[in-house]
Amino acid sequence: MATASEQMTGGVAAEREHFFIGGEWVSPSSDKTFDLVNASTGQVFGRVPEGVEADMDRAVAAAKAAFEGGWGQTSARERAELMRKFAAALEKRGGDLASTVSRQNGMPVALAQQFEGGFPVAMLQFYAAIADEMQEEEERKNAMGQRTLVRRTPVGVAAGIVPWNFPVVLSMTKICPALAAGCTLVLKPSPGTSLDWYIVAEAAQEAGIPAGVINWVPGDREAGAYLVSHPDIDKVAFTGSTAAGRKVAQACGERLRPCTLELGGKSAGIILDDATLDEEMAQGIAFASLLNNGQACLASTRILAPKSRYDDVVEFMAGVASSLKVGDSMDSSTQVGPMASREHRERVLGFIEQGKKEGARCVTGGGSAKDLDGWFVEPTIFADLDNNANIAREEIFGPVLCVIPYEDEAEAIAMANDSPYGLGGTVWSADHERALNVARQVQTGSIGVNGYSLHLGSPFGGVKASGLGREFSGETLGHYQQLKSIYLMN
Ligand code: NAD
Repeated sequence: MATASEQMTGGVAAEREHFFIGGEWVSPSSDKTFDLVNASTGQVFGRVPEGVEADMDRAVAAAKAAFEGGWGQTSARERAELMRKFAAALEKRGGDLASTVSRQNGMPVALAQQFEGGFPVAMLQFYAAIADEMQEEEERKNAMGQRTLVRRTPVGVAAGIVPWNFPVVLSMTKICPALAAGCTLVLKPSPGTSLDWYIVAEAAQEAGIPAGVINWVPGDREAGAYLVSHPDIDKVAFTGSTAAGRKVAQACGERLRPCTLELGGKSAGIILDDATLDEEMAQGIAFASLLNNGQACLASTRILAPKSRYDDVVEFMAGVASSLKVGDSMDSSTQVGPMASREHRERVLGFIEQGKKEGARCVTGGGSAKDLDGWFVEPTIFADLDNNANIAREEIFGPVLCVIPYEDEAEAIAMANDSPYGLGGTVWSADHERALNVARQVQTGSIGVNGYSLHLGSPFGGVKASGLGREFSGETLGHYQQLKSIYLMN
């Protein structure tokens, strides 16, 4: 728990001195720390300890002991009951989670309330219901009369590594299926969002999640790489950039360790020539393309527009971008907050400069929001570029969209598929069947018709350089389980 000296910010202590390992608040092995910086002001508001290899060793040992000491043998129904208690404890802390995330990474607080504050509760309840119905053993009989007992057992200790953009939801995409399956975990949050997990850990403790079942140690990428390669880790669940995902996959390949990878994206928003460019679509495309200040892996950031209506679409998208309210993430009316860090803002501005140099026309935005102190970037629309421009191929991870012209539907589909990535996407049309037919042909893990929203229970994940495996669904449980066939010969 927080010590008396810990500074309070908005009700949540922002100076922390411990990690959560083996069900206890333990002191770190080193005196290294991370500063917590308010993305909207650039001001330091707290400090947390930084995990090093010795801390990871302790966390993995605690997770292993908890797995072998009983959690791996609990019934799925017992685990479901605990998950519901965890959900109730988290629900009480929804407001604190939302404001803490918003302050750290610039997510507009209204969005943070919906996602970081609310969605994790629904996720725990969803996976608790799956655990309730879970059959650990199933007898199968084939056409030749052979009988097999198929057993599902938890894979063991999972390492969960998450980025800063949706820190709570993305941690829960690992925690929920792992708990349902009977695995234990070590979570490594990203340095910039190292405060929210204290709130989640306090909820887990209040719910009575047994000691060592979930352990949290924030650290940098070296600490993450150490965790991925640790000999006592049985499975890795990683969310982050494609570049880091390749390194994680390499380390797991070396050890023949199962891993799921949720990586980057550069998804297409295909506007068909019959789309109604109205207020409803404006709201839908703002969400699908500029969610979380554009810091969303699934965003439709390549807007593909029919040549016959190109000028209309460019004008429409410029209107969408310029109408969004940019401001302090903690203001409930803000629609676009700052970038999560100074370095990230410099990276996004670098892409904007590159777009201008490449000859694309900057229709609106195109710089930092100069009257604001934090790390703001104006919502920016580029036009008059093709799908080969660097800013149309690279993931920018900021509020920067490209509007690219296409000749006909076939070319739109080919362009959507001409990307190293395949994570999200949208199709916009007045004709539902026509849009659905286009959606079926896009090489991607998920795509929305006339909007985009993650549906709990439906698989989410990427194809190509966007990842391996799926989250948010019952299918995810399979990533945390081993299958064993016992052949019944008599
Ligand atoms: P990042 O890859 O730099 O870091 C992600 C996490 O991995 C951090 O905790 C980091 O410390 C850790 N890490 C980095 N290198 C590592 C390594 N070699 N071994 C182990 N751990 C390592 O990404 P970021 O900048 O924090 O997040 C943004 C990226 O995440 C974007 O590319 C975005 O598309 C992606 N993302 C994907 C999804 C998805 O579901 N597909 C969701 C959110 C974000």
